[in-house]
Amino acid sequence: MSSEVPQSAAERLTQVNDLRWKKFPVLNDGFVCLVDVMGDDSSVVQAARVSYGEGTKKVSDDRTLIRYLLRHRHTTPFEMAEIKFLVRVPMDCWRQWIRHRTANVNEYSTRYSLAIDAAQTTPVDEWRTQAESNRQGSGNPLSTELGQKLTDQETELQNQMRTVYQERIDSGVAREQARKDLPLATYTEAYWKIDLHNLLHFLALRMDSHAQQEIRDYATTIGEQIIAPLFPVVWEAFQDYRMQSMFLTKMDVEVIQRLTSTAASSGAVPPFSGEAFLAAQDPKWVALKRSRERDECRGKLQHLGLVAGE
Ligand SMILES: Cc1cc2nc3c(=O)[nH]c(=O)nc-3n(C[C@H](O)[C@H](O)[C@H](O)COP(=O)(O)OP(=O)(O)OC[C@H]3O[C@@H](n4cnc5c(N)ncnc54)[C@H](O)[C@@H]3O)c2cc1C
Repeated sequence: MSSEVPQSAAERLTQVNDLRWKKFPVLNDGFVCLVDVMGDDSSVVQAARVSYGEGTKKVSDDRTLIRYLLRHRHTTPFEMAEIKFLVRVPMDCWRQWIRHRTANVNEYSTRYSLAIDAAQTTPVDEWRTQAESNRQGSGNPLSTELGQKLTDQETELQNQMRTVYQERIDSGVAREQARKDLPLATYTEAYWKIDLHNLLHFLALRMDSHAQQEIRDYATTIGEQIIAPLFPVVWEAFQDYRMQSMFLTKMDVEVIQRLTSTAASSGAVPPFSGEAFLAAQDPKWVALKRSRERDECRGKLQHLGLVAGE
């Protein structure tokens, strides 16, 4: 990948035109599509050079500058690019999405028009258990036998809700009132416009493993199918410094220091044992039977190969 201007203006236009209005499917009947984009990797560089001056060009090429800005959270140059999407999302997922206040939104009105006649459906093998460790998350897949029953119930319920809605409409009930019992699985559509900085913030939160699977599917599609090709240098830096990076707290750093210095004196080599981790843990965690912070620290050290996995 070239680190300077990656393509000619004509090539860029063709690339954008090829992407615009292309519906990338998500879930059973949702999609994301690019409506418009203002700017590219060079818009970030152009804005940054206003503050740093042309002299920067001598010491850092465009790629190096973008990577420096992202690494050091110098964010405003990333606000110079804007992206507009059309999205079709189930209402419960949209409820999470719309919490991101830094976008401009215009949503399909079910007061003005009939509710979209489509709902998110769950394949037999995609029902999930409640996670044991995380009250907000999902655990393992449920059996397909139970999944079949749940999917059948889902179909029945959604059909019934839709029939009641249609009967209300046919009886002359106002659309704004008739909609009140439609399931959260009903799809909505919206134009969603956001600058690149705030989009990366959205993607970092919603592509993360802690986000609900459904919104992760949307965020991943936006990121990989649309943003990666449109902003290849920014995307590469975003992967390196956000998505695939690791945040270490002061306590994490101190645990690592204690672990490695103890190991150095005893001659042990990583991965160190679970007991060694507990011996090196933060003093404030010792008395706690359960500590999410300790678990998170252990997880990071396991990922680094410093502590043995369970
Ligand atoms: C895994 C996960 C679980 C969540 N669980 C819950 C939950 O249980 N309950 C719940 O209510 N929400 C929950 N949320 C939503 C979360 O708290 C945020 O509301 C959401 O992620 C939007 O983040 P944001 O405010 O940073 O984004 P944006 O609204 O896009 O804002 C971006 C940034 O702009 C700044 N900003 C924007 N508006 C303001 C403002 N008015 N004042 C000051 N600064 C502002 C902040 O720095 C903010 O980080 C969850 C989110 C995630 C990812």
